[in-house]
Amino acid sequence: MDLPVEEWRAHVHRRWRQLPPSAQAALRTSALREVLRHCSSLLQLEDEAFLQRLADGFSVEKDPDACLLYKEEGNKAFLRKAYRAAAGLYSKGASHARPNTQEMALCFANRSAAFFHLAQYETCLEDIGRAQRHGYPERLRPKLMLRKAECLVALGRRQEAALAVQDLEQSGAAQQAGTGAPDLQALQRRLSHLKARVREDTGPAEAPPLGAAHASEEVGPSAKNERIPGASLSVSLRSDPSRGRYLIVTEDILPGELLVKEEAFVSVLNPGETAGLRRGSEAQRDGRATPGDCHCHRCLKPVVATVPCQGCSYAKYCSQQCLQLAWERYHWAECPLGGTLLTLGVFCHVALRTVLLAGFEAVSNLVKTVQGTVSPEAASVPDGQPPGQKLNARPDPAESSPRGGASGAPIPGCDRDGSYQSSYYAVFHLLPHTEKHSPEHKFLCGLSIVALCRKLKEADWPPRAQGPSAQEAALTTERTPEPSVWAEAMLRHVLQLHCNAQGVTALQEAGSEGDLVTERRQVRLATGLFPSISLMNHSCRPNTSLSFRGSVGSVHASRLIARGQEILHCYGPHEGRMDVATRQQKLRSQYFFDCRCQACQEEAAHGAGVTPKQGGFRCPTCRAALQGLDPLGCSNGSCRAQVSRTHLLGQLGDLQQRVETAGELLRGDRTARAVQLLLACRREAEDFLTSEHVLMGEIEDRLAQAYASLGDWPKSAAHLRNSLQVVEAQHGPASVEMGHELFKLAQVLFNGFAVTEAVSVIEKAEKVLSLHYGPENEQVQELQQMKACLRELPSRPGGPTA
Ligand SMILES: [Zn+2]
Ligand SMILES: [Zn+2]
Ligand SMILES: [Zn+2]
Ligand SMILES: [Zn+2]
Repeated sequence: MDLPVEEWRAHVHRRWRQLPPSAQAALRTSALREVLRHCSSLLQLEDEAFLQRLADGFSVEKDPDACLLYKEEGNKAFLRKAYRAAAGLYSKGASHARPNTQEMALCFANRSAAFFHLAQYETCLEDIGRAQRHGYPERLRPKLMLRKAECLVALGRRQEAALAVQDLEQSGAAQQAGTGAPDLQALQRRLSHLKARVREDTGPAEAPPLGAAHASEEVGPSAKNERIPGASLSVSLRSDPSRGRYLIVTEDILPGELLVKEEAFVSVLNPGETAGLRRGSEAQRDGRATPGDCHCHRCLKPVVATVPCQGCSYAKYCSQQCLQLAWERYHWAECPLGGTLLTLGVFCHVALRTVLLAGFEAVSNLVKTVQGTVSPEAASVPDGQPPGQKLNARPDPAESSPRGGASGAPIPGCDRDGSYQSSYYAVFHLLPHTEKHSPEHKFLCGLSIVALCRKLKEADWPPRAQGPSAQEAALTTERTPEPSVWAEAMLRHVLQLHCNAQGVTALQEAGSEGDLVTERRQVRLATGLFPSISLMNHSCRPNTSLSFRGSVGSVHASRLIARGQEILHCYGPHEGRMDVATRQQKLRSQYFFDCRCQACQEEAAHGAGVTPKQGGFRCPTCRAALQGLDPLGCSNGSCRAQVSRTHLLGQLGDLQQRVETAGELLRGDRTARAVQLLLACRREAEDFLTSEHVLMGEIEDRLAQAYASLGDWPKSAAHLRNSLQVVEAQHGPASVEMGHELFKLAQVLFNGFAVTEAVSVIEKAEKVLSLHYGPENEQVQELQQMKACLRELPSRPGGPTA
């Protein structure tokens, strides 16, 4: 996903194998300009043609046939009363319609009907407006106006509702549209009811202002750090030769405290399984929603009613405003590229978007400074002070200057007064590690970037004349881009992303419509660059937790951090998920360093791998834990049983597969069969797995899910308690995994009216989740609502209490 598609990688690999040794050796250089010069001479017409064929395999342009097809499928879903699915299909239809056509208007109008039935009246009104703007047919207008008035009535916006009905009556259109008339009478009755109700009210009946509910989103760290915007006042940037740049706390930090909150400098939505975008694929035909269908391509917020790009069927936004901003800042250049960016992968896409966001001037100045063709004085640097220039900071060994590292040298990426802005300047100074990447990897990246630049040129870059924005005009006249400068910056960013790309995650609901217990999974939604968050070093046992809301990342302390300690974040290999050898290998190959974190040192000292991370095996004879590598022996002194590792792994593999099958049965609503299978799996698992084994936890979790969907809350809760024990053993009592599992248990107990236990579990879940996500988190709020709801229960006579 981050790298180019498999076929392009294989093609470049073949090309690499055919290169003469001298050409391969030439790519050992760490000068990006040289890498590009070689790649440029090596990229042949056949390569470009091959890339084009791959790009053509993605369906990203508008296709009127697809529009009709999705609309019809949407109508079918609508008749089945599957309104959410219908809305999704109409959205797909709209993305394939051309702007200002009847097709586009009809897709929006039909979608408005779906939202009406889902009681999402605001969204419905927005879609009605869209349908009208795209030329909704006049003869159907009364139908749409009726829906509008009904929404306004439902929302209590009585004046507008009255106007809308008046409008309808006066136009006489309703009388002409035979079927509309009875609806109109019903509506008038509702309106008069509303009027009567409003007269009794003392206060205004208008809907509450929208802003209030969202105000809490804007809260950042309580006191602003002037040197690192977005960081709390107790965070300080340091640098030394062994650790590079890093962050420390200047006072004791309590668990749950917000340390950094930063919006991505750039982010690109992950296309997910690109299969869904391949022309003619099954996934494409059945209209399955991809993450790109339900998140805004600019701000990454979840969105139900997408606004499609006017030029392609791929990009979609939460609002006209996001569409406009995206177009002006970068999509004008991306849109004409068709499937090329999907073929070249997310890293190339992020690299392109980064230079587009930065603007030619900033890119050009920084690239030329690195190349040495422009003296640092002339380069555009915040406050005119480039890095490398002497500062009058005196190094103080006890309290190293905030302006620099312990040596007093300025910290790269910081401007004159030592502050570190989330700017392109900071992005540019993230390390590309050019010397550490293999020559073949540089060849792949270089060739991809050169090919992308040629495509951009073909697509008439610098911008087309008909572009709507003033910014484009400015770009064409004043700053004619030099292709080599753009290419060099993009290659730098692609290589930086290898170590600095931050996966933006979101919690996605995995269950189906109407489930009473929401199953949430962390999914990788996008890839972005966060200059401040990137300053944190890795630890396999981090003291922070990173979460996202749209494209804004928040770092909370997950444990106590004492004054002077480093703020550490996990790049992926967490001690709870992998053993020390796997972690070290991953960190070395992707991030080019040997991890010496506390967890790694402890495991190295105590001898790793005695108990595997995922939990151990049990003796088939006496059920005590097995130990050793191969064969495994019984830990019970009086038992001499021995079992071969291959045998155990085979048994584990079989069991895993059956658990997988049970999962599919659950998804296919064949719950009774799934329960049967899972119970059999559990009996088998008890014979050879310890109770803390991950697979044991998974079986328990699925059983809980199955019983929840049958409405058997006590059984569901019992299995969740077992699963919780496994999660706690695996990840620790304050882990985010524990938080999610507690959340599920809270929901089950809530649904089963097990009031006392529910309240206690809700409080635990609330504590753990707000530690990782902060108190504004959606789930934390949901828990608080549940608690409030339960507190009201006992006062009700006859209310269930257990
Ligand atoms: Zn948006
Ligand atoms: Zn587009
Ligand atoms: Zn480590
Ligand atoms: Zn034994």
